[in-house]
Amino acid sequence: MNNISTPLKKHLLVIDDEQDICELVSDVADMLGFSTEQCSVLNELDDLKLNPLPDVLALDLSMPDVDGIEIINHLGSLAVKPQLILMTGFERSVLDGAHKLADRLNVPVLGQLNKPFSIQMLKDLLELPLIQTKPAASKSGAKPSAQKFAPEDIAKGIQNGEFVAYYQPQIDLKTGELHGVEALVRWHHPNGLVMPDDFLPEIESNQQILPLTESVIEQTMRQMIYWQASGLPPMQTSINLSAAYLGELDLPGLMLRLLKDHPIPAELITFEITERIGLNDNNQAVLDTLTRLRLKGFYLSIDDFGTGYSSLSQLNQLPFNEIKIDKSFVFHMLSSPISKAIVESSISLARQLNVRCIAEGIETEEIRDALQMMGCDIGQGYLYSKALPPEDFIKWAAAYVNETRV
Ligand code: C2E
Ligand code: CA
Ligand code: CA
Repeated sequence: MNNISTPLKKHLLVIDDEQDICELVSDVADMLGFSTEQCSVLNELDDLKLNPLPDVLALDLSMPDVDGIEIINHLGSLAVKPQLILMTGFERSVLDGAHKLADRLNVPVLGQLNKPFSIQMLKDLLELPLIQTKPAASKSGAKPSAQKFAPEDIAKGIQNGEFVAYYQPQIDLKTGELHGVEALVRWHHPNGLVMPDDFLPEIESNQQILPLTESVIEQTMRQMIYWQASGLPPMQTSINLSAAYLGELDLPGLMLRLLKDHPIPAELITFEITERIGLNDNNQAVLDTLTRLRLKGFYLSIDDFGTGYSSLSQLNQLPFNEIKIDKSFVFHMLSSPISKAIVESSISLARQLNVRCIAEGIETEEIRDALQMMGCDIGQGYLYSKALPPEDFIKWAAAYVNETRV
């Protein structure tokens, strides 16, 4: 037969220190028309042969020498990545953790197999269509973001008004009405659009978060006045604050000054407290600032609830009005029992504390419906709209309000 007319077989590599599993996976994949390869001994990462690069990599997470997490980290650095089937005999949370890591590194995951698994479960996964893989340019891959930004460029950018607040709608899940918006900053860099994850760490470490925060707040208040004048209903407007630097900013004073020029009820503004660095008791200045903001009538929301430092103990310390469930749990809530449990308990906690509960990262109707059933108050995500530049947001909002009025 000639090579050109033979359709290329999909290639599968299985890595597992249990020889039986290697053979089982290979046999099933063989039956389904894959070419297969097995690896049951991997002493170090350098011994990993990915040539030819498999289309599917069935990977045991717990192995004596190199573990699955190291391998996923390695795959994250490749330009073209195989699709993963994650396997382990450990509890489900181990699979979930590895799945989240792969998501963060843009390594596609075909599915998870909790050992012992049935042949049918394996077949079901191998018969799935392969996910379209994107070449390398992940979150902080190509474009202007690959470079580190010099503090002078950032300062110039702020001065030139290159940091622009975009707006993403938040919807009342019970009524379907427009509830509010979140301001999310983007950098209109001369070389192209740069997303916050690619410049905020730089800005925070250069202590330039204060002028940026001021600019975002001012732009947003200007828009709020404009929305009001355009006949849109009042929208609860969220602004992100990095907690770690709050102590250095006289935000209550700044807000009072800004409110003089932009007459807006303080109750319409919610500050979402984002924690890249932990809030703790030593951070008294931050706690004082937040308490003062609340006393002036502004609302406070715990952002990224359930992750990192955003913990239950803060609910005790601060007068929060809202819990914002992180999108990482929302994304997986229909496939991961742990994510679902975190979403459910956050909603129930919000109800018991009599605070609002909002879920971000809603991309499908199924997830929206599930959140609605669980009693979540507000939803935000690409299902409704991504964050839009001011001129597009106002059109979107007017059309949405018009539609939901009917
Ligand atoms: P965040 O506060 O958790 O904001 C939510 C992020 O999720 C936003 O990313 C938003 O665009 C994205 N998102 C919303 N819905 C969906 C969805 O359905 N699917 C997916 N895949 N993503 C969704 P963005 O705009 O890139 O912002 C990233 C982070 O940067 C924010 O996370 C926030 O922590 C920070 N940030 C953004 N603007 C500001 C700001 O003005 N000041 C401060 N301090 N931080 C900001
Ligand atoms: Ca936020
Ligand atoms: Ca978040």
